[in-house]
Amino acid sequence: MGRFWLRKRGFWALFLLFCGLFAFSRPQAAVPAEGEALIEAPLVALTFDDGPRRSTTADLLDGLQERGVPATFFLIGEQIEGNEDLIKRMEEEGHQIGIHSYEHRWLTALSAADFARQVDRERQLLYEILGREDFLLRPPYGGVDAAVEKRANTPIVLWSVDPEDWKELDADRVTQRILENVEDGDVILLHDIYPTSVEAALRVVDTLHEKGFLFVTVSELARQKGIELENGKVYRGFRG
Ligand SMILES: [Zn+2]
Repeated sequence: MGRFWLRKRGFWALFLLFCGLFAFSRPQAAVPAEGEALIEAPLVALTFDDGPRRSTTADLLDGLQERGVPATFFLIGEQIEGNEDLIKRMEEEGHQIGIHSYEHRWLTALSAADFARQVDRERQLLYEILGREDFLLRPPYGGVDAAVEKRANTPIVLWSVDPEDWKELDADRVTQRILENVEDGDVILLHDIYPTSVEAALRVVDTLHEKGFLFVTVSELARQKGIELENGKVYRGFRG
């Protein structure tokens, strides 16, 4: 009798463990490919600036892959060398890649030549790795003026939710600030160079998945919301 109960409890323990694993590492439902039907579920885009940084970006990519979640990465040009494999991995795993300037400079009040050194030079570096040039631009500090718009030669993407993850390196607070503010159509700003931000991002994914949200790249979010991104135009999010 005793042994029977033990076995039975063992079975249920294993069963619950299996269910738990399934519930927590389940990838999100497939998002329709370009040209296919629009999604009814609330949608958000996670965006990460200032990478790549091998130690933290690789962990983030692992966590996103496990959850089937695509994100958008605005890279610093001078950090590309030596991290080409990470950039190819981003592309292969369905993430979107954007330009965040070569040396993390304010792009406002630059000469045409200096702008080219910050933006076109990074575009060229990415072209050498990925063989295309259609990268979104996110100017550092969100600094945009008429000259930046004119020279961008690509859509300019800012954000609609900023938990200021760089200011307070606290995963709980960052997670909480995002969850308090997030709505359908939001573009969330994070930095994949801090372990606390990586942790917060993955917690946000798990919590929003439970609430029925899905995650898409910035371009896919725009498409889903019926917005055609235009070169030189500034986008801060895609709330209805
Ligand atoms: Zn930045």
